[in-house]
Amino acid sequence: DKFKDGLSKTRNQFTSKVNDLVARYRKVDEDFFEELEDVLLQADVGFDTVMELMDALRFEVQRKNIKDTAGIQSVISEKLVEIYESGESDSIELNIQESGLTVILLVGVNGVGKTTTIGKLAHKFKSEGKNVLLAAGDTFRAGAIDQLVVWGERVGVEVIRQAEGSDPAAVMYDAIRAAKNRKADILICDTAGRLQNKVNLMKELEKVHRVISREIEGAPHEVLLALDATTGQNALIQAQTFKEATNVTGIVLTKLDGTAKGGIVLAIRSKLKIPVKFVGLGEKMDDLQPFDAEKYVYGLFA
Ligand code: GDP
Repeated sequence: DKFKDGLSKTRNQFTSKVNDLVARYRKVDEDFFEELEDVLLQADVGFDTVMELMDALRFEVQRKNIKDTAGIQSVISEKLVEIYESGESDSIELNIQESGLTVILLVGVNGVGKTTTIGKLAHKFKSEGKNVLLAAGDTFRAGAIDQLVVWGERVGVEVIRQAEGSDPAAVMYDAIRAAKNRKADILICDTAGRLQNKVNLMKELEKVHRVISREIEGAPHEVLLALDATTGQNALIQAQTFKEATNVTGIVLTKLDGTAKGGIVLAIRSKLKIPVKFVGLGEKMDDLQPFDAEKYVYGLFA
């Protein structure tokens, strides 16, 4: 089970710490709760979510008159799922058009795994029998276009590109025309991710967005923000910035396999109110999984 494997680092640390607590305390008391709180904070679950969870746990323990720490894991999982799902207003399903072109924009800071995610998504759609096209919209970072072309070749989809340094909005314009000509189902667009000049980057994203929506009504249908799970709370700050600049419709949380702080998923949910639609669990093309809250939470203890 890829989902389970990908969470192994988080699980190993989290489960062993919780199990250790359970064994040491045996009885549920205030000290137990306090140590549990620390374990959750260390897993990057996020302060607000941890506080909410602790309240819910205390309430449940009292209500069910739970005295022993044995079995507390299942109560924790239950409450975590409840908290996650209560914050969930939108579906994790992608907004794919029944007919005609669906445009998906990928945004995010350099290095978070944007290009890799585009490759993985292209592979996913292609294996569903869809006609996929990529747009090399990061004309700024040296090598970004070539890197996308490599993914295009690997997956077997065409990449619409212009020279490095050209106007990304012009690339989008070209790509949409090409997509229409080739009757593509899905166009996935890369964008620049330099954060050194935030104002310029945000202006560029706005322009790209504008060109796309002018060419196709209702597009882009998805604006997916790639966030690197290993950067912990920093990811939250990035998300805030992008949320202010563009209409982010979903998050792809990458490199979840590379961190023991997988609790960040829960923090993202409660802080941003944007659904985590996919998680990246490795570097290969099939290492992208739709996010599943129950699988995730129960995977932490399994
Ligand atoms: P970009 O600059 O945002 O386009 O980032 P890249 O797609 O080039 O990815 C940066 C690095 O992260 C590469 O070495 C990728 O192989 C790696 N990477 C991307 N996604 C994942 C993931 O889900 N898990 C792991 N372990 N590595 C990933």
